[in-house]
Amino acid sequence: MTREPAEPLLLDYLIRAGAIHSMTGGTYRSVGLWGPEIVAVSAEPDGLDDLAGRGTVVVDAGDLTLLPAFADSHEHLMEASRNTLLVPVDKARSVAEFTGMVADAARAAPPGQWIMTSIGWHESNLAENRLPTLAELDAAAPDHPVLARRGGHLAVVNSAALAAAGVGPDTPDPPGGKIGRLADGSRDGVLEGGAVYQVAAFAPGPARAELAGALGTGSAAYAALGVGTIREAMINLDELLAYQDALDRDLLKVRVRTMIRVGSEQTPDQAIALIDGLGARSGFGDDWLRIWGLKLVLDGGVEGAAMEQPYANDPGNSGHLNWGPPAMIAVCAEAVRRGWRVGTHAVGDRALRTLLDVYEAVVAETGTVPPWTLVIEHAMISDAALRDRAVRDGFGVTVQHPVLWNMGSEMLATWGPERTRQVTPLDQWVAAGADLAAGTDLVRPFNPMTNVWGMVTRGTKSAGIQGPEHAISVGTALELYTMGTAALNHEQDRLGSVTPGKLADLVAYPVDPLAVDPDALAELIPAFTIVGGRATHDPDKRLAS
Ligand SMILES: [Zn+2]
Repeated sequence: MTREPAEPLLLDYLIRAGAIHSMTGGTYRSVGLWGPEIVAVSAEPDGLDDLAGRGTVVVDAGDLTLLPAFADSHEHLMEASRNTLLVPVDKARSVAEFTGMVADAARAAPPGQWIMTSIGWHESNLAENRLPTLAELDAAAPDHPVLARRGGHLAVVNSAALAAAGVGPDTPDPPGGKIGRLADGSRDGVLEGGAVYQVAAFAPGPARAELAGALGTGSAAYAALGVGTIREAMINLDELLAYQDALDRDLLKVRVRTMIRVGSEQTPDQAIALIDGLGARSGFGDDWLRIWGLKLVLDGGVEGAAMEQPYANDPGNSGHLNWGPPAMIAVCAEAVRRGWRVGTHAVGDRALRTLLDVYEAVVAETGTVPPWTLVIEHAMISDAALRDRAVRDGFGVTVQHPVLWNMGSEMLATWGPERTRQVTPLDQWVAAGADLAAGTDLVRPFNPMTNVWGMVTRGTKSAGIQGPEHAISVGTALELYTMGTAALNHEQDRLGSVTPGKLADLVAYPVDPLAVDPDALAELIPAFTIVGGRATHDPDKRLAS
């Protein structure tokens, strides 16, 4: 039996652009998409015209430059999405605005449902420069428990919240906490320390369906900034189910690669049992939602990073390690044997040294592992010897300039100017030949182009330019943010560049990021974003048929 020659392939989309940077060397002028994939590229704007048929959407975008969509190597999409469910009192500028937002939320919720605010507010941003009172919260939401946490150690609640938590006039203060009182002995609604957790324990977390919905809203905000993939830096198994729900309901606007938390509070046997209980291994999933691996946290953040030298503002303190090396070696070796990848948070140089010791011991037990199996998350403070070790051992590093951008002032105070200007010296890591993948770690949508600008200028939000000698080029920054993360995710054959056969994840900009002054990138916003051949962001309907 003979077959007719195949029908010529007719594209779903033919996009002609001013420039299409492939990220693997070539620059094109047109790209053809079919289904979820890129199927053709051409150096000529009209080079793919023969592949266009009646059903092809032809996008004339000679004013735009296309890049592979950004792939964030380390971000907390679940936390960022959960925040969208909280009352945004961090935006209030007076007590009346604050309680007005609480009242609005209460009106929209059935009586008895907890009203919870975002925690990132402070009374110094309110005109009255004081906390809202219990009486004010009672007036705003008489029939709903209100929990307004401020940061990690203080909260204001209303009478319904105290009642729901069983706190009466005679309830004693919990260990390490205080339940505030007015002068007349009645409760004032202010909770400190352990009292916050005592009451918060009665406030249920969002239901899974609600969380899945929030992932839709949350991921759309990242897609609007040109992000195509997020490596979700820490979730538990309930949250993995919420991701699966969001996928089933077609709500995800970015691809997600998840890291599942393995806590240091467990014994090695418990941690290994948890890993066994996962019943899968790294790589399980599909192109939209896939399990990346496990997440361990070795030290703290700006406060708590394990340093070789004491903190600038606290000479008796050099941070802490959460794991003992023997336990960590045992857990990581068993994980690797079971086919799991491991990413470990290590911010300070003492944490990095300890992590290299651990990973080297793991490889001594398991034998050589593929690149991006044992991963260093952050490595903010390093020296040449540590960097050389990581490179020699083949342990890749995820890097996040936005943490310096956001926390530069805190780093200056806590770590001092010398260490702050040395935070994540990308020029040094690149020169050493490291495997690097760029990301954010800000727990809120952050413009990837602001990140690129930061990697290229070492600019920050409020701490000026920090260590300009550690800048890298725009081209290298884009590469770490596309191909770098694709390699981290073991998907360099499917994502990270504009190449026929790869998934059609693209972002378009009104200027060519490789041709303009880097300062023009700081607030550059995409014209559209495509993930898997579908528009995830297209405000001007450039992709409409
Ligand atoms: Zn993180």
